[in-house]
Amino acid sequence: MAVNQNATAAPGAIAPGAGTFSDRVRDAIRHGELRLAFQPQADTHSGRLTGFEALSRWRLDDGTVIPPDVFIPMAETSDAINILGEWTVRRACETAAGWMQDGVADVPVAVNLSARQLEDPGFARTVLGILAETGLPAANLKLELTETALFEHSESSREVLTQLRGAGVRLVLDDFGTGYSSLSLLRRVPVEALKIDKHFTQAMVQDRDAAAIVRAIIDLAHALGMQAIAEGVETNDELLYLRAYRCDRIQGYLLAKPLDTAQVPDFIRRLAAT
Ligand code: C2E
Ligand code: CA
Ligand code: CA
Ligand code: CA
Repeated sequence: MAVNQNATAAPGAIAPGAGTFSDRVRDAIRHGELRLAFQPQADTHSGRLTGFEALSRWRLDDGTVIPPDVFIPMAETSDAINILGEWTVRRACETAAGWMQDGVADVPVAVNLSARQLEDPGFARTVLGILAETGLPAANLKLELTETALFEHSESSREVLTQLRGAGVRLVLDDFGTGYSSLSLLRRVPVEALKIDKHFTQAMVQDRDAAAIVRAIIDLAHALGMQAIAEGVETNDELLYLRAYRCDRIQGYLLAKPLDTAQVPDFIRRLAAT
């Protein structure tokens, strides 16, 4: 498969050469090699658009696309992730603010965060600065965090999250159920939604245990006053299960693959017409 070949070729292709990987990331940003793709999310019951998740892509001059599963872990071993992460927040906010100004859409955009970004005590200030610069309302920015990110780096990162939440930025717990979470964590972190990992979504129709887990996550979210979002929804059967379980939001190829920015207005027009 072409995608896998690219993935194995990738680490060499984005190796830092003489400088550091942070230098390489700065270079990639300057040369437009980094892009964001936007994947829509919708209300499970009405199908109405509820937001987008921004997903990073690294495209080399020769057209090779390196998936985030390859370059994010590389970046996470150094400050490269802070450079990349700040660029991602800025680009996502600029794009979403543009959609608002052009009357394309007024929905939140979600950005993935790495644990290391929360360890930076200046991170909240950086994000709030970007919101001020781009004019995006804080409520239109969501940050997706993993359980591991919250668990590993307790006090100071929780302080960063409290600052962001206090300013109106919204927090979502990503890949819920795949990390080492303690459920008591859920009471200490001001998250508004639990995101069900695609492995559960995709096993659900065949596997009773996976279905029980999906259902339990949705019920847990609701019991705590949160929403449940299922990712990786590919089939109509999966959608029917999620409706029966009262999952609030869906995201997945059934709705759309991650889109280039230029494809978004057209997607929204088509969705509104159905
Ligand atoms: P994630 O946050 O769990 O994102 C969901 C992944 O599932 C994305 O892969 C998305 O393209 C893919 N996906 C969406 N719908 C479907 C579907 O219906 N079927 C299948 N099979 N897959 C689907 P992607 O874009 O390759 O991203 C992989 C991971 O990389 C993300 O997982 C996220 O953890 C990380 N990532 C992506 N962009 C960033 C970023 O800017 N910063 C950080 N820290 N991590 C990022
Ligand atoms: Ca995510
Ligand atoms: Ca993830
Ligand atoms: Ca996931």
